[in-house]
Amino acid sequence: MKHLVKLYILIFITIVFSIVYLYVKLGETQDQLTINIDNIFLTQTKEIARNIDEHIHNEIDANLYAQLKNNLKLRERLEEEMSLLHTEIYQYIYILYRDKHHNFRYLLDGSKEDKGAFDEKLNVNKKIWEKVYKSKTSQLYSQQNIDALSQTYLAPIIYNDTVEAVLAIDFSTALPRNITQATIPLKHVFFYIFAAILLMLLILLYQTFLNLKTKKESITDPLTQAYNRTYLRELLKRIDISAYQIAMLDIDYFKQVNDTYGHKTGDKILRDVADIIKQEIRSNDIFVRFGGEEFLLFISKQQENNYTAKKVAERIRKHIEMTSFVYDNITIKLTLSIGITCDTTHFKSISDAIKHADKMLYIAKREGRNLVITDNKQQQKEQDKKETSIHQLSINAIKEAIEDNRVFVFFQPIFDAHTSNITKYEALIRIKDKNGTIVLPGQFLPTVAHTNVYNDLTKIVLENVFKTIEKSKMSISVNLNFSDIVDSNIFGIIIEELKANKVLASWLIIELLENEILEADATLVQHIQEIKSFGVKIAIDDFGTGYANYAVFQKLPIDIIKIDGSLIKEIDTSPVSQRIVKSIIYLTEEFNIETIAEFVHSEEVYTKVKELGITHLQGFYLAKPQEDLAL
Ligand code: GH3
Ligand code: MG
Ligand code: MG
Repeated sequence: MKHLVKLYILIFITIVFSIVYLYVKLGETQDQLTINIDNIFLTQTKEIARNIDEHIHNEIDANLYAQLKNNLKLRERLEEEMSLLHTEIYQYIYILYRDKHHNFRYLLDGSKEDKGAFDEKLNVNKKIWEKVYKSKTSQLYSQQNIDALSQTYLAPIIYNDTVEAVLAIDFSTALPRNITQATIPLKHVFFYIFAAILLMLLILLYQTFLNLKTKKESITDPLTQAYNRTYLRELLKRIDISAYQIAMLDIDYFKQVNDTYGHKTGDKILRDVADIIKQEIRSNDIFVRFGGEEFLLFISKQQENNYTAKKVAERIRKHIEMTSFVYDNITIKLTLSIGITCDTTHFKSISDAIKHADKMLYIAKREGRNLVITDNKQQQKEQDKKETSIHQLSINAIKEAIEDNRVFVFFQPIFDAHTSNITKYEALIRIKDKNGTIVLPGQFLPTVAHTNVYNDLTKIVLENVFKTIEKSKMSISVNLNFSDIVDSNIFGIIIEELKANKVLASWLIIELLENEILEADATLVQHIQEIKSFGVKIAIDDFGTGYANYAVFQKLPIDIIKIDGSLIKEIDTSPVSQRIVKSIIYLTEEFNIETIAEFVHSEEVYTKVKELGITHLQGFYLAKPQEDLAL
């Protein structure tokens, strides 16, 4: 659109210049024409003067005055001949002589009316007439008559090197000028045409400007000045997707910002975030507000290494991270998550490529936010997964292990930080291969994910845990995921068991992943609430690295939080981890929630977590997972 405006302005300027040029040229041509016509008439006048002079010399060989005075017939003839030369242009042709008093008097007059009589005095412009006498050369001067400008050509009539008289020819250039004047209306017509064209152009330009403005408004988001979805829809029809990479950007925890600082501040942030994004992109890129706080970028593919969607996204992410948004003395820090489709070529449609970027965004959110995730990275991960799966058990090996009863549940003790007593255990699934080597879940669960075999494994774990609880009357937590609880089969088994064995509920703990609770759908919430209604405790696993979102407390009544191992691992040396853990403890105390530190692997960590006030501890330093409860 910008190019179109530029083009319009260029065309407009060109037309205006052409019009001005033509107009000036027309004026110049007219002036030239006038000069040329004047020249033609002057030449002709000189010719007439020369002829008359020659004729008089032929008729009178000396003493001009005396000859004419005495010869009325000659005078009449000569005057008759001169009068023949009169035309509309040559109105007066006459010959004067200078008397001794330097008055000028008629010798001959070719005029038909008001004829000057012989010797009659005529008042003339003496200065010029005298000059003819003196210089013996012809002179030209202009005089303004009543109705027209006329010129007088004076030529000396010389006998024996003495000027005896002066021939005067008055000629009016009014007529020739009239010819050029005839072009004046033409000039006016031109002027009016030009003015009309100019006016039309101006109106057209204004109209175009208005159109563009309305068009721009209809495709622009008023808050951020990014393109809106109307534009996106249009764009999708005509864009060559292979020329772009797609980035989907979403502000992290924006709802919290709105809730804390108000919608107005939220709007200001959206505008400022959009401005930052605009600063980092180029004019070829397309910036769309996709939804509330979601933006879409089409990054034009460039030759340069430094201008890829990933690099741009990373710059935007950093820029936002480094920025303090200050409104009315309140400083707000924000982060962005970005998902990218680098390779758009293998998608059937642009919508698919956008959806894919959205998927990558979702992964960025899941992996902790303030991240840029590209499909390359995702592909890499899938590649990594394939590579590691070489070391994984095959599905047949897992089935065989089930048949051979080589699926075990190990139990890792969890200690009360105060009393150092074991208060509960975490149930952990293991397979023993044919050689008796223990295989960890990471080496077989991915293989069976989303298969019936996975459900079979869950059932084995549950059965084992139920039995162990019954036997030991100890609290045992079991890891279940979203699909386990939604699965009607597994859910049915749990409910049946809880109904059949009422005491079981007080010992059973179900560990869920934080993000799964956040994304919980109605069925999941309903199933968990039903399980909980028996008195089963709910724990959140790996809390604190991903979402650390306290919204989980609203979604479900939580009893226990397991602080993620990555926070505990270096807690003795990392002040950041300490601060995060402190804030988690502060909150859990408010909600009366129990905390468990997992990954307690050294004395230093053990001392630190106890000092911080975590209520329960688990880890290799205290006890490894074992096949039986250490009763
Ligand atoms: P996350 O993306 O990190 O998962 O969390 P979030 O809180 O940002 O996620 P969600 O997409 O649920 O929240 C988006 C919020 O954006 C919801 C709404 O209050 C806010 N929002 C959407 N449009 C506007 C707007 O035009 N102005 C303001 N102030 N807020 C908006
Ligand atoms: Mg969102
Ligand atoms: Mg968001």
